[in-house]
Amino acid sequence: MGDVIESVWLGSKPEPLKSPAAEIVRTLESRRITAVRRVGKHIVFDLELADGVGRAPSPARRRTRLRRPSLRKKAAGGSARPAQESNAQWIVHLGMTGRMVVCEADSETAKHTHLVAKLASGRELRFVDPRRFGRLSVAHGFEAGGSEPLEVKPDHFVSLFHGRKTPIKSALLNQKLLRGVGNIYADESLFRAGIRPRRRAASLTRDDLRRLYPAVREVLREAIALGGSSVSDYVDADGEDCLVCRTPIKRVVIAGRSSHYCPKCQK
Ligand SMILES: [Zn+2]
Repeated sequence: MGDVIESVWLGSKPEPLKSPAAEIVRTLESRRITAVRRVGKHIVFDLELADGVGRAPSPARRRTRLRRPSLRKKAAGGSARPAQESNAQWIVHLGMTGRMVVCEADSETAKHTHLVAKLASGRELRFVDPRRFGRLSVAHGFEAGGSEPLEVKPDHFVSLFHGRKTPIKSALLNQKLLRGVGNIYADESLFRAGIRPRRRAASLTRDDLRRLYPAVREVLREAIALGGSSVSDYVDADGEDCLVCRTPIKRVVIAGRSSHYCPKCQK
């Protein structure tokens, strides 16, 4: 898409806002939309700071800066928001009746419009939801740092992997998506979820990901409880056969790392 959000208007109804209004506005304004994907009832917009575009200071602000050099210094050093904020996501949960509309700026505003994002192209993105079960939220830094697996919500977990063309094992190890899932923990989680490590993330169904979510969390929690030692439900002491079905464990290399799986228990 690549359009830049210049400004954001929010309606007065509080229900659709899952993140604070000021944070939504601050996160959306002056951002370029780099990708849009639909994940079930969610629409996720990936946003990056739009350099210069739409960020020229207004005359009023310029005057303020001249009078107050301290502000100017701040503004100069910080064209940038903190690094972890340079990438952000705008997440729209459609609820029952919510919809996103792209239209010309002069087209009539529908009743029950809760957000209008003015785009540099002259168009507008509008969120319309008569029954107000939909939710608008923003999130920061998935690309920069990844989410904390024990804090991430199921829907967001699904959206991290949905549509990715890499093997699910590589995606689990990708620290930009989830933090702290090491090689052995990834193998163990995939075993518990019954998923082969080489399967493309994009080929996993929502149900697969819904099984993987608790598996990853369980494995990490157990690892923490054990003081970081590895946990294994599936490889026996000599590391050869599946503990569940006695099938010899297979080893493959994915993204330069050894992966082990049971060809019978994992599909
Ligand atoms: Zn097995």
